[in-house]
Amino acid sequence: MSRCIFCDIKDNPDNIVVQNELAFAIYDKHPVSKGHILVIPKRHFDSFFEATEEEIVRLYQLINECKKIIDEQFKPSGYNVGVNVGYDAGQTVFHLHIHLIPRYKGDTTHP
Ligand code: 5GP
Ligand code: ZN
Repeated sequence: MSRCIFCDIKDNPDNIVVQNELAFAIYDKHPVSKGHILVIPKRHFDSFFEATEEEIVRLYQLINECKKIIDEQFKPSGYNVGVNVGYDAGQTVFHLHIHLIPRYKGDTTHP
């Protein structure tokens, strides 16, 4: 079974914001914005498209829990929710993670 940095973090409860049976969440080490969270399956695999339906449900539940925490703590006015799949798409850690990036008025460029 492969392991990686997120597998190591998973085993250290100090780093975990919230978790359920199949997924856990941590604050990103290099946040794009204040409160940037990664929602991660406990099972090690690299691609969003390899997740089981049960994992998708559990990841989605955790995204919503994290949103509540971020809303209360940081009061953002929007979110980017996204996944990089593959090196060519910018994936750097090859253990699936969903970026939950709170956004704040004025921090994106709109026409
Ligand atoms: P990717 O480019 O693969 O979609 O995103 C990987 C993310 O993982 C990056 O936003 C990066 O800052 C974050 N990251 C990489 N190593 C660590 C780490 O050791 N701890 C935490 N909390 N985040 C990490
Ligand atoms: Zn891993």
